Amino acid sequence: MQAGNVSQLFVSFQGEGLHAGRRQLFVRFGGCPLRCRYCDEPESLVPVAACRILGPDGERERSNPFTGAEIEAEIAGLADAAPPLHAMAVTGGEPLQQAEFLSAWLGARERRLPVLLETAGILPGRLARVLPWVEIVSLDIKCPSNTGERARWDEHEACLRLAIGAGREVYVKMPVDEGTSHEEVERGSRLVAGVDPTVPLFLTPLTEPGSSRLTIRADTLERLHAVASRHHPDVRVLPQLHKLLGIL
Ligand code: SF4
Repeated sequence: MQAGNVSQLFVSFQGEGLHAGRRQLFVRFGGCPLRCRYCDEPESLVPVAACRILGPDGERERSNPFTGAEIEAEIAGLADAAPPLHAMAVTGGEPLQQAEFLSAWLGARERRLPVLLETAGILPGRLARVLPWVEIVSLDIKCPSNTGERARWDEHEACLRLAIGAGREVYVKMPVDEGTSHEEVERGSRLVAGVDPTVPLFLTPLTEPGSSRLTIRADTLERLHAVASRHHPDVRVLPQLHKLLGIL
């Protein structure tokens, strides 16, 4: 039986994208192949020894790894104690790093909540393996000027085409800060519109680590929105709600 490395299990409000403000169950996986400069999940960059489980009775830890059945047992308890939930957000780190486990776990589970996959959109082969078990895809476009990583345009485009081709609900987020290049915002917005102009593109203003203070000025954000809107008909600006609320 496959086993997965999970860093956190909790219920919270979705903080980003099309479903911001909806209450969801979060399964956060440990491990990510990227090292974005602005990463706000440093504890999920590598597999972790213990998973933090945050329930109505407080926080506890459980050692990794998890089988699919063990995740199910934990999330059933969280879901039962929570008000109605919109979806189960599978996030990270980069959850597709554990694609084999994900497809085994999600493929075997009884369908209850829709699955929302949050991915950096850089692993199309792995996305294809997991897509049959996913209803909603939240895909990032990573700008090298603010990640400090190399460009991944081809991988982003391949992931977007796969998710749309599979008929999934898709939205794209582009994290931006004061250093984000206009050319990259232009390229990203053209990429999304070129694949499907009905896919909403969210410019996500970044914040200082551990704070809700934005790292982009309002006038810069307006300029980036104008640049993106020249190429894509549905560009929106949405700060990370969970940061403003001071929640996970
Ligand atoms: S992809 Fe996400 S988890 Fe990975 S380094 Fe970038 S921000 Fe952090």
